[in-house]
Amino acid sequence: MALLHCFVNAKSAQSYLDIKDRLGQRFDKSTLYRNLSAFEDAGIIHRINDQSGISKYAFGKAHDHGSNHAHFVCDVCETIYCIEKSTTENINVPEGFKTKDIQTIIKGTCPYC
Ligand SMILES: [Zn+2]
Ligand SMILES: [Zn+2]
Repeated sequence: MALLHCFVNAKSAQSYLDIKDRLGQRFDKSTLYRNLSAFEDAGIIHRINDQSGISKYAFGKAHDHGSNHAHFVCDVCETIYCIEKSTTENINVPEGFKTKDIQTIIKGTCPYC
């Protein structure tokens, strides 16, 4: 429940470290990771991989707002925002290629920076 609250109250995507900071020492690393992946499997949260190599998680199933919505990464504060209703479906790959997942990252500056 504490972990769920982290996402419900968050305006932007959270990394493992953000979540750990919020929850303090109540959970160990493996418990937290196990719960994050359980949440992901259940479609409660979705994972975003930006160029930093650190996975971030945001509330909501990836498929709720168009199968692959874009994410906005702020260059200044490094916050990741889900850009809902954006669609990446018109990206066509040549014949013979099979797309498994499309991750669209928009870079720029958020309204708070
Ligand atoms: Zn920002
Ligand atoms: Zn998202």
